[in-house]
Amino acid sequence: MVLITTAADSGESLHSTFASRYVQKPLPRFKMPEAEIPREAAYQIISDELMLDGNPRLNLASFVTTWMEPECDRLIMASLNKNYVDMDEYPVTTELQNRCVNMIAHLLHAPIGDEEAAVGMGTVGSSEAIMLAGLAFKTRWQKKRRAQGRSILSPNIVIGANLQVCWEKFARYFEVELKEVKLVEGCYVMDPAKAVEMVDDDTICVVSILGSTLTGEFEDVQLLNQLLSEKNAQTGWDIPIHVDAASGGFIAPFIYPELEWDFRLPLVKSINVSGHKYGLVYPGVGWALWRCKEDLPEELIFHINYLGSDQPSFTLNFSRGSSQIIAQYYQFIRLGFEGYKNILENCMANARALREGIADTGKFKILSKERGAPVVAFSLIDSSKYTVFDISEGLRRYGWIVPAYTMPADASDVALLRVVIREDFSRGLAERLVSHLSAVVAELGAAPGRTATAAHLAAGEEGGEAAAEEIATFWRRLAHRRKTSGVC
Ligand SMILES: *Cc1c(COP(=O)(O)O)cnc(C)c1O
Repeated sequence: MVLITTAADSGESLHSTFASRYVQKPLPRFKMPEAEIPREAAYQIISDELMLDGNPRLNLASFVTTWMEPECDRLIMASLNKNYVDMDEYPVTTELQNRCVNMIAHLLHAPIGDEEAAVGMGTVGSSEAIMLAGLAFKTRWQKKRRAQGRSILSPNIVIGANLQVCWEKFARYFEVELKEVKLVEGCYVMDPAKAVEMVDDDTICVVSILGSTLTGEFEDVQLLNQLLSEKNAQTGWDIPIHVDAASGGFIAPFIYPELEWDFRLPLVKSINVSGHKYGLVYPGVGWALWRCKEDLPEELIFHINYLGSDQPSFTLNFSRGSSQIIAQYYQFIRLGFEGYKNILENCMANARALREGIADTGKFKILSKERGAPVVAFSLIDSSKYTVFDISEGLRRYGWIVPAYTMPADASDVALLRVVIREDFSRGLAERLVSHLSAVVAELGAAPGRTATAAHLAAGEEGGEAAAEEIATFWRRLAHRRKTSGVC
């Protein structure tokens, strides 16, 4: 290529990438810069800075998809400029979303005939789907109350304290009280009997979580349905159930087809699932499904007519990208039931292998249950010398992102680590993670106890300073060894 330099570009294009003045200057952070820069420079600056982000594939903290097939990546790139809301202009995309809704409704046993349209819509994620489902329950309750000439001021939702933060957002944004069923040590999901004890005349729904964020465990929706039916019969109430199946909605149908947790249970009126978790699509898609038309109050729906047919719209935002919807449809037809089942069985097998490897170290107690999402949650048997937070930090130096956290109130003495197994987490990576975990534990075990020595120092005990020096040397050496051995 011949570069022709003009006065206007003052020779910029002749500089090597990293010698150009754009790359040498400090980056604009707060104020928009005055002048333009060449596109290559903008690209270079930003992609360099992004190198410091973690590697998504090693991010074991997240349920959200980090890998898709290159053919699907192509479809996504090709539809980046399509606004999903323009249903007139992109009727095919709209049609694909409707097909997805119907496929999911059938998967979740919605009581609809083969040719009948399912009730539901694509959202940005489970959070938006939950806002919509919660609003539908609230509106339904208020309508009934108004008809009875009674107060509509104090609606509540009964839910386990293992709830995901989006429920707290719903409660605050839409003024609904959350009545949390407390967890106890040893049981980290909602107890259906306790939940049913807590419902009252103002309860708009009970939420059951299929795939607890904390441990991946499935709650017993079937028992909840039974106990709540009994309560409704005794009291004359008609309190419904919503299932937050953000992760479990795309696991249970394939791995536990016999497990009744979905629309097979009569009180389950709505369900949310995250397309971007085990629906196997990149972030930006979720699904809200209702049992039937009667469960979605008409006044919440806005009707858009396109090509002679009625397109109901019930979403919080207007414009959004179409790519994720198209990608969801790709996964459905590319994988089919068989493909999803294979991928999930593989995830479960890898979770089992990881669980065994972690248990074999002899240092950890496994908190996640066999039945649930492919998640391994584990706590330290003995955390007097080092904690799960030290382990999380230690693993980070090998490149792994494994979060450490404490359980919610009433079980907050329990601190744990959690690994989420996704499609792209192979057996080889699982084995490597176990060996790095063992290495981190061995290093921490050999280290002089940080907490114990801090206590010595604080108490002014003899030998405290020498011990502190010894510790400092240990950590310095460790850091040096890591730096020189590199990260694999
Ligand atoms: C991830 C998750 C959510 C939130 O879903 P997004 O799709 O990230 O908005 C809600 N509930 C549960 C149980 C989850 O795991």
